[in-house]
Amino acid sequence: MHEWALAEAVIAAAIEESSKGGLKKINEITVKIGELQQIELEIFQYALDEIVKVHDEDLLLKDVKIELETERAIFKCRVCGHEWDYRDAGLDDDEGEAVHFAPEVAHVYVRCPSCKSPDFEVIQGRGVLIQSIKGMG
Ligand SMILES: [Zn+2]
Repeated sequence: MHEWALAEAVIAAAIEESSKGGLKKINEITVKIGELQQIELEIFQYALDEIVKVHDEDLLLKDVKIELETERAIFKCRVCGHEWDYRDAGLDDDEGEAVHFAPEVAHVYVRCPSCKSPDFEVIQGRGVLIQSIKGMG
């Protein structure tokens, strides 16, 4: 149900942003999803489509196209400042999957490739955000 809550939040935010920007019709919404975000993309897309249908009489969201994009995860070492993609961290496939499906496990597997420190932060690749809204005023 987490996908539905996120989808509703995305649509609500898109409606709010377009009214701020004076749009009367939204043509396209691009949503970025961090690859560490635990979300079923198919359910998310379905939820978005269903929520848009509810707003169908509303000209604002009529025939809106929703694009989903995945944002790659980037880590940054707190010790030496090195930034890297977890695909470059030398994980084998099983470990890569574990990180993907449970980001909190990342600290168990991932080490800074430069100084080997496990002390790092996720600077990109988490959460869901609206990348862009295209429409007509
Ligand atoms: Zn480092």
